Amino acid sequence: MKDSVRACGIYARISSDDGTALGVARQIEDCTSEAAKRGWPIAEVFTDNDVSATKAKRRPEYERLLQAIEHRSVDAVIVWDVDRLTRTPAELERFIDMADRHHLALASIGGEVDLSTPQGRLTARIKGSVARHEVEQMSRRLKRKFQENAKEGISHGIAPFGYRRQRILDDHGRETGFRDVVAPAEADALREVYRRAIAGESLRFLAKYLNDSGFTTIRGNKFQGNVVGAMLRRPRYAGHRTHRGQIIGRGDWEPIVSQDTYDQALAILSAPGRRHSRGIEPKYLLSGIALCGRCGTAMRPNVHKPKNGKHRQPAYICPGCSKLTRKIEPVDAVVEAVIVARLSLPDAAGLTATRPDALQSAAAARDAILARMDTAADGFAQGAITARQLARINEQLKAQLSAAEADVARHQPSMLLDGLTGDGAAEAWGATPLNRKRDIIRSLMDITILPAGPGVRFSPDQIRIDWKGAAA
Ligand SMILES: [Zn+2]
Repeated sequence: MKDSVRACGIYARISSDDGTALGVARQIEDCTSEAAKRGWPIAEVFTDNDVSATKAKRRPEYERLLQAIEHRSVDAVIVWDVDRLTRTPAELERFIDMADRHHLALASIGGEVDLSTPQGRLTARIKGSVARHEVEQMSRRLKRKFQENAKEGISHGIAPFGYRRQRILDDHGRETGFRDVVAPAEADALREVYRRAIAGESLRFLAKYLNDSGFTTIRGNKFQGNVVGAMLRRPRYAGHRTHRGQIIGRGDWEPIVSQDTYDQALAILSAPGRRHSRGIEPKYLLSGIALCGRCGTAMRPNVHKPKNGKHRQPAYICPGCSKLTRKIEPVDAVVEAVIVARLSLPDAAGLTATRPDALQSAAAARDAILARMDTAADGFAQGAITARQLARINEQLKAQLSAAEADVARHQPSMLLDGLTGDGAAEAWGATPLNRKRDIIRSLMDITILPAGPGVRFSPDQIRIDWKGAAA
């Protein structure tokens, strides 16, 4: 560019590949800041809409731009990319010819294109027709989209339960995006569901709670246990942005629960034993928990059909050796009496305590990884790193993050016994849902039902209880 620019024209075009009005606003915005950076005074903005992308279609604003160049009312042109300016090699040649005659200065957001040099022309020709530097362009478009999202607080996808999608309109009332805001009633229900999940309520029970409270899924269906489970696992409720299931940084929406609450719920949901109870929820306290004293197989309930009109009492039987059977009711009564006695002891509250320092350092490690993800995402939005670099960084951090999250979950203080210890233990135990009782039993003791000879009456010493860990 030999002479200083007097009057610059900005040319923007919507094309079929990003065919939205937003695309043009974006182009103009970038070109305007490019003009400011170069100190080029903007004379006029030219905008064509050729979403249909037929080559024959006229571009009135482009023609007007050419006239402005001919009449020298502009002596510079800024485009977002050369591919916005010319659609065919013939158009490009015509433009180059004109630029030569009028000593036109041309800039694109990707860098200056000097059509007065052979190299600049080659670049323009390559970009305009043959190979469109597809990868480079896509990463730049993606980058631009990221910047815009960061600026306008746009979140991806459908608004999840707990949020309402708000449209963002520009000065002309056109929709330029959206943001998710907290829907108070749903958010309250969601927080209650997290609280109950942490307290050990089953997913099925939580689904019932939501249905009974009059809520439906975002698609208007009734909640099912697995849907609630998937919902509680969504990192966005703790304020994390995800992409294809990976956390990629901090979201710009209001979180519904704290990181701690989210971590605790995740720890409970992924607790061993929980994973396998996805099917039929057990109806009996010790089914699958109590072990056969003969062969070590987990015992199952054997619920008899009425015989001669008489109901027989349900029993635990061994599906392994088939040689051990005990009526359920007296076995459960003994185990419950023993556990209530244990929970009433003064040290009971500390039975599932973990080391708080370990939790703290695990959480700090997790937060450090999240911060690095945020930094990488920022770096990408600011153009400091490429999409490919961002992906590679996130790939590494993702593995570290899941390890760190598992660490946090492992050191999470268990709330399993909350409200169940001390003086009121017996009463509280009676009001505890079956699933939580089963979780507590599993965490505190091993139960073995010992064999007894035929005809031997039931006695509590036919049940062996081995306390685990701190409960011993
Ligand atoms: Zn057995």
